[in-house]
Amino acid sequence: MQGNSMQPSSQATVMNFLNEVAGRFPTAISLAAGRPTERFFDRLQPSALLRALSRYEQYASGRGTKRDVMASLLQYGRTAGMIEELISAQLSRDEGVVATPDRLIVTAGCQEALALCLAALCPEPGDVALVCNPTYIGATGAADASGVAIVALPGNDDDLAASVAHTAGELRRQGRTARVLYVIPDFDNPTGRVIDEAQRVALLAVCAQQRIVVLEDNPYGMFRYDGQPVPPMAALDSAGSVIYLSTYSKTLCPALRVGSLTLPQTLFGDRTARMQLFEELTQRKSFLTVNTSQIAQAIVAGLLLEQDCSLRKWVQPAVDLYRDNRDTMLRQLDRVFAPLAGTIGWNRPDGGFFLSLDLPFRFDAEAVTACAVEHGVIVMPMAFFALDASQDRRIRLAFSSVDAAQIAAGVSALGAYIAQRIEQ
Ligand code: PMP
Repeated sequence: MQGNSMQPSSQATVMNFLNEVAGRFPTAISLAAGRPTERFFDRLQPSALLRALSRYEQYASGRGTKRDVMASLLQYGRTAGMIEELISAQLSRDEGVVATPDRLIVTAGCQEALALCLAALCPEPGDVALVCNPTYIGATGAADASGVAIVALPGNDDDLAASVAHTAGELRRQGRTARVLYVIPDFDNPTGRVIDEAQRVALLAVCAQQRIVVLEDNPYGMFRYDGQPVPPMAALDSAGSVIYLSTYSKTLCPALRVGSLTLPQTLFGDRTARMQLFEELTQRKSFLTVNTSQIAQAIVAGLLLEQDCSLRKWVQPAVDLYRDNRDTMLRQLDRVFAPLAGTIGWNRPDGGFFLSLDLPFRFDAEAVTACAVEHGVIVMPMAFFALDASQDRRIRLAFSSVDAAQIAAGVSALGAYIAQRIEQ
């Protein structure tokens, strides 16, 4: 990985750092955690989970399963999964991704899908995964853990297709090969940006031409608050270059640890190559987690059956809450930073959990502690997600797991810290 002394080496390290700061300052408001709200977890009380389990039991029994369904749930299971059909139905209804069950692997969250794909697609020492900069630390952490080299695309995200073509060419000259492009096209973690349709199409063309597999990670696509949805890259892909990663962590809850990866119909036009990749991924998974918890899969299945394989209605209260939170944060940013207009900037994301704030000074781990100690607010340096020094003057702000009062107070507290730093 390109050197950056600021980036903790793994997601666990970032979490440890933030937990440690939060533990030392338990009353501080955290605008750092990219977690879903717990406000609607009461819909997943033990009684509801049991109802979902028995709903799945009925469904599986009705399909003529000869075995005792509950006993089979407690047994080792099929590595590729047990509920691919229901997940495929949900993906096509909610996310516009047509996924036949034979191309889908149920994973222990999206994190496992990421780790499996990176390792399987980049087996040789010269193989490289391209990433945006900044990017989700779980992806760079997974690559590091599997010994996969990562190269950050240069510049900002304005012309990703040109960056991919340029970087792939540079790597070729070094005797290395860009195999994978990891992207979060909808409401990126950490920046909140969306890749527009024209850029998605251009990226797909370059990746198909260079035979680079796109790992499209879409945990936030269901959380759009304004504007028109942009089709997922997997839905725009005609060349067979996109693997689509999805998760129930944000729509249902993270504790279930259920996500999925969906392979394209053919891998760059080659159906056999896709089937071989499927085998390779399931074999790797069998050595990693054996199978995704069948109890968790059955709960997801029961909930999907209850919701007619669409989670749109289920997530609506959270979508409304997150939209209000985003609006509260934007209003408070406008208010607090009005006197510093032109010095501090931020984006106005149409969805997701995050926005990014640009500062005129460096914001590092020391600044995190100073914010917490002196002002009672915890925020995330963008540098934690970066592969070079380009993000040193930015902060990621999360608005998903706090309430309006906390957002208002947290942004004011951050404003006081920033004003003080600027005056220094
Ligand atoms: N990708 C991105 C972009 C994420 O933000 C997250 C969760 N923070 C994940 C993957 C991991 O999700 P899961 O809980 O499904 O492993």
